[in-house]
Amino acid sequence: MEKKQKIIVIGAGPVGSLAALYAANRGDDVEIYELRSDLRDPSTTPLNFTKSINLALSERGINAMRHAGQPRLIEHVMGATIPMRGRMIHGRRANGDLYEESQEYDVYGRSILAIDRGGLNKRLLDILEEMPNVTFFFSHKLSGADFRKNKAWFEVREIKGANQEPRAREVEVDFDLMIGADGAHSAVRYHLMKYTRMDYQQVYIDTMWCEFQIQPKTTAADASLNSKFLISPNHLHIWPGKEFMFIAIPSDDGSFTCTLFAPAGLYEQLESDPIGSLIPPFFDKHFPGVTSLIPSAELIASFHGNPHLPLISIKCKPHHYGSSAVIVGDAAHAMVPFYGQGMNAGLEDVRILFDILDKHARMDELSAGADKAASRERALAEYTAVRVPDAHAINDLALQNYVEMRASVLSPVYRLRKFLEEA
Ligand code: FAD
Repeated sequence: MEKKQKIIVIGAGPVGSLAALYAANRGDDVEIYELRSDLRDPSTTPLNFTKSINLALSERGINAMRHAGQPRLIEHVMGATIPMRGRMIHGRRANGDLYEESQEYDVYGRSILAIDRGGLNKRLLDILEEMPNVTFFFSHKLSGADFRKNKAWFEVREIKGANQEPRAREVEVDFDLMIGADGAHSAVRYHLMKYTRMDYQQVYIDTMWCEFQIQPKTTAADASLNSKFLISPNHLHIWPGKEFMFIAIPSDDGSFTCTLFAPAGLYEQLESDPIGSLIPPFFDKHFPGVTSLIPSAELIASFHGNPHLPLISIKCKPHHYGSSAVIVGDAAHAMVPFYGQGMNAGLEDVRILFDILDKHARMDELSAGADKAASRERALAEYTAVRVPDAHAINDLALQNYVEMRASVLSPVYRLRKFLEEA
């Protein structure tokens, strides 16, 4: 009987979970190792966020999920999203009046979709859990890897009893293929660098981000207005500020996940005032209308209570080593979020990777006694060749789109171009 391959996936984020699903559908033994505890456990805090946030999901990501061989996944995704048909630009006219201007994304009315990142991730984990050839290992941190001997080491943190410090032990695991989907600070990528001459470029842009919330309508009077949303649910809302911006993405419950993007120096200025008295006037001046959507006390509490996080852009090449390792998602190409494509591109990596692995497996079945590792080595080399230029291009586009979102949407040239396009 043909020997099953053992695929280990590092990281159970959206990209790692989709990669595990693709691998499991092909009948191989799949093990998923995740640093944190199970996301579905209410005590697990979502990575980087106080609660799960909403992301923009586009055709790139939807298509990857459509090809995962699990109709239930795509049904869930399409049922749990809110279409955003354009961006809504918020501003103030010279006479002081507030305005909103809808800029449609597509002349045919097509939309991008707002989706809850945690909800999507949990759905993927639920589907994986039902598959007999998938095993989860939560609270397992990849600490070492030998890609020639196909061995990996994990630090497992265990709490033996109440009030006890967690104790760490190490486990050793064999594998045929390791898929590294362990995010921007990837341990898989770090170990890969010892085995291959990896070109690597990392840039922190001078922008920090912090999360805020617009709550749903609450009063009975508000509810009678026929919507639980305080602003249009079918737009990605932008308050452009030239050097900084505030955005809001709708959630199913009527709330909006909002983000302040601004230079580190501005964050320092606002942080220097411990009682937060600078924050509401700053929002009032630069993001007209926001203080009537988020009460001042909540603005101050979110600014001081939520983390202020940097934005990193990473390019590297190759994305694989031999037949034993490949990196996908943020591990291979973390990008700034302004193009809304980080997760989408990571999901697309998975579709392309498995398309290429399948193509080589089919070709090699034609030759008797084909060596699976040799076939996989050819496939991974092709994957790097195909995917690296695209990953680099989307990283660049994401950087460029920050200028578009925070400034160009206001420029007369932009308006003229849009006018001509639509005429
Ligand atoms: P992650 O989501 O980072 O998951 C990696 C997993 O690996 C984590 O669960 C982590 O715990 C685990 N891990 C890490 N180290 C180890 C280790 N040593 N051992 C084991 N496990 C490990 N993308 C979009 O497509 N659309 C958007 O609108 C969008 N908006 C964004 C807004 C903001 C503010 C930010 C910051 C990002 C946004 N993104 C967006 C990008 C998106 O969040 C990421 O691209 C996506 O989460 C990457 O998924 P991933 O699975 O590759 O990595």
